[in-house]
Amino acid sequence: MARLTAISGLGGKGPACFLIETRAARLLLDLGYGPQPGLLPNVDGVGKVDALLLSHGHRDHAGGFELLGKVGNPPIYATDIVRRLLPAGTNSRPLPLHGTTEVAGLQVTTGRSGHAPGGVWLHIAVDGGLLYMGDNSGESILYAADAPPPATAIIIDASYGAYETPLSECTKKFDPVFDAGPVLLPIPVAGRGPEIALYLIRSGRAAPHIDDALRASLTRLAAQDSPCLKPGITPELAQLAANAPAIEKPAGVMLAGIADATAGEAAKQVAAWEHQTTPAIVFSGYLPPGTPAERLTTSGRASYLRWNVHPRLAENARLVRAVGAQIVLPAFGDAARHRQAWETAFAPARVVVSGSVEF
Ligand SMILES: [Zn+2]
Repeated sequence: MARLTAISGLGGKGPACFLIETRAARLLLDLGYGPQPGLLPNVDGVGKVDALLLSHGHRDHAGGFELLGKVGNPPIYATDIVRRLLPAGTNSRPLPLHGTTEVAGLQVTTGRSGHAPGGVWLHIAVDGGLLYMGDNSGESILYAADAPPPATAIIIDASYGAYETPLSECTKKFDPVFDAGPVLLPIPVAGRGPEIALYLIRSGRAAPHIDDALRASLTRLAAQDSPCLKPGITPELAQLAANAPAIEKPAGVMLAGIADATAGEAAKQVAAWEHQTTPAIVFSGYLPPGTPAERLTTSGRASYLRWNVHPRLAENARLVRAVGAQIVLPAFGDAARHRQAWETAFAPARVVVSGSVEF
């Protein structure tokens, strides 16, 4: 018997944090922050856990470390690519990118999730299996994705609700924007940023202008982070890291972090260009309330075009069937809006949108 509790991240967009309890161990899956500024999971009732496992390094999954003391300062398990991003002195231990290991006496299997450098899904060998997808995508042209094993219960990445537009359709909307230039795209440098850069050169366009953080990310992806990529891509990434021009004035396609423009080069550039009519500014991910991403898209100064980095409903339905899940927790999506669509898509599996479930 195992009990799975959504501490945060179920019912709507919020920081990821799930608790799995068995007779043998208590594990926390992710401990995020945001994406709205200031939002942290409420871990007051969690108590001491044996380990924290991270799906990937994005802030909404791995940004809540100020709460570690409240859950007994557990060791943190993550892939080596993600461990390098953790604060110095963090008590961390390795997870494979694709393989099996043991955590607090439980067998944990991981595989690449197609979403970010070092990102994995996590399969815990409790009764029938629990599969936590973290954030995942099957459409990335950059990041590799491995097929997960069977599981009775699954926490899926339902960030996109009932959305069904494939990435190949999304890119058709970006093409005229890229060709018109100059355009600034605030992006996550360890997410779709490198992927958009790769798309630009593969579609015969000039290399984008990039900030230092994206150049560093491209350099790592071309070298030590390459095991998380689809095969054969590293020469193109190395070339981008070496030759893509810096951002000096509005010109061409400009890629800069971070995605919501609350920090990094994107924040500086948005502040400098917000009250001018050029360059165009396009946000392409989640628009957290209280951020420049929300403010500029609401005012009309920036536009929004989605670049898929999470699965579509049909992909999630295929996944639920492929692993044989009987219980589905659709995480990070708006349950009030999409519950009906999820229940239809995942039937006969039971859809759980709040609280705890035993299996
Ligand atoms: Zn993510």
